[in-house]
Amino acid sequence: MTTPSRSAVPDWFDASETRLLGKACTRCRSVFFPPTIDRCRNPRCGGDVLETHPLSTRGRIWSWTRNHYKPPAPYVSGDPFEPYTVLAVELEEDGLVVLGQLSPDSPPANVGDMVSLRTEKLLEDEDGVQLVWRWTLDNSETVEVAS
Ligand SMILES: [Zn+2]
Repeated sequence: MTTPSRSAVPDWFDASETRLLGKACTRCRSVFFPPTIDRCRNPRCGGDVLETHPLSTRGRIWSWTRNHYKPPAPYVSGDPFEPYTVLAVELEEDGLVVLGQLSPDSPPANVGDMVSLRTEKLLEDEDGVQLVWRWTLDNSETVEVAS
């Protein structure tokens, strides 16, 4: 029997596709993350119809920090707590900067490095495995788009 798995934050992350889920305004096409908004934040638009918008799975590290303290609940951390790296990643296609953890299995990464999204286990409880997104160093070639 396999253990069922699901996204720990299903409105933000599609674990089966390894995609962060943003919102896009149907009027001006502005993209937002996290998808916790109900109207467009573009001050020149005023649109109020938003649709789910799967975000880029690659990006460039814009900044990072290392967290050495255990955040309070509802954050889930291991016991004993292990420090982790939080990245601000500028998405390759969407131009947004989103936050996420660097995978503990990733090689070290720094500002300017390319990273890609991956699905990892957060925890396992009586209902199965909860999955989250994390970033990992991506050394593959950047695809250049001809202009
Ligand atoms: Zn808009």
